[in-house]
Amino acid sequence: MRTLTAGSVIGILGGGQLGRMTAMAAARLGFPCHVFCQSDDEPAVAVCAAHTLGAWSDTEALTCFAKAVDVVTLEWENVPLAALDAVAAHTALFPSATVLRIAQDRGLEKRFACEVGVGTADFVIVHSVDELEKALESFPRPAILKSTRMGYDGRGQVKITDGMAAGDAWAQMGGEEGILEAFVAFDKEISVIVARREDGASVAFPAVENMHRNHILFETQAPALIDPALAQEATDIAQRMAAHLHVVGLLTVELFILKTPNEKGQSVLMNEIAPRPHNSGHWTIDACLCSQFEMLVRAIAGLPLLEAMPHSKAVMRNILGEDLGRCPAYVADPTAALHLYGKKEPRDGRKMGHVTFLKGAW
Ligand code: AMP
Repeated sequence: MRTLTAGSVIGILGGGQLGRMTAMAAARLGFPCHVFCQSDDEPAVAVCAAHTLGAWSDTEALTCFAKAVDVVTLEWENVPLAALDAVAAHTALFPSATVLRIAQDRGLEKRFACEVGVGTADFVIVHSVDELEKALESFPRPAILKSTRMGYDGRGQVKITDGMAAGDAWAQMGGEEGILEAFVAFDKEISVIVARREDGASVAFPAVENMHRNHILFETQAPALIDPALAQEATDIAQRMAAHLHVVGLLTVELFILKTPNEKGQSVLMNEIAPRPHNSGHWTIDACLCSQFEMLVRAIAGLPLLEAMPHSKAVMRNILGEDLGRCPAYVADPTAALHLYGKKEPRDGRKMGHVTFLKGAW
């Protein structure tokens, strides 16, 4: 395993807030970052030592970028596979395109979970309205239809209730391929973030509890207030998935905790994975000695992975465009750590920043 020394340059694919916070953590360890993105307005550009602007289809720009850095990671899992291949031809790419191929497709993701013995909602992959109609004949309602690709924050998702026609659901979903999932009557939604190095060393952050509003993460509570045995099971699932995928970097696993075990005796089901820093891990910047972003940098640089050591309990809230008016109160609150991403255009529903409230000793 190669270990990077201070001064080595970390390349980041994607210029959003996750890239920005990765670059800030990298800078603290002496690694300048070079971001590849589409506009110099993107949040990461202001805190990176260098940036390359280019389309994901611009192989020449991607090649120059890859040759200018010592390792590449990413902050957006939907970077096209061809762009990943262009980068990986010239430098180390962590996580690999193999991991990304699975994480970009909800169908592959769930099939992979089943292969490694991780429970999921019952699902079937459908390629047309006819296939959906047929699947719905034997599928209990309500059900959820999701586009297998490019869906996030609830986009490309339809809840199919009694009486809803397959054609309407298919049109609303808007994708070329869908995954029809049983509706899970979950008790809680949690997530676990695992960091893993090339030599297989790994650490997991404690399971946290996530609350959504309008399909967007509203609040994360750390730690999750769940049975410790279920938290351990969730952690084992995340570690197992990261190991089987040979992830180098971070793997976030989002899971459902059921009120009562299902007919297979499962109480913890995987919903989806993201091989990158995650919104539900932002609390770690202020409540842990080593944040998810620093852990990512350590993992890809071959540095020691520290035990995730939270010193404080925490509640993280996203600040959307419509919430910006609350910032003066946050900035005056001694228990609050305010993070703004420097986005110029506030819009309703757009993530502009987050705030972490420290809630006493861990
Ligand atoms: P996803 O994009 O898959 O993370 O879904 C967004 C949100 O929709 C999740 O955080 C859940 O709150 C909800 N959701 C997704 N899949 C299901 C399901 N099979 N059953 C019930 N709720 C779901």
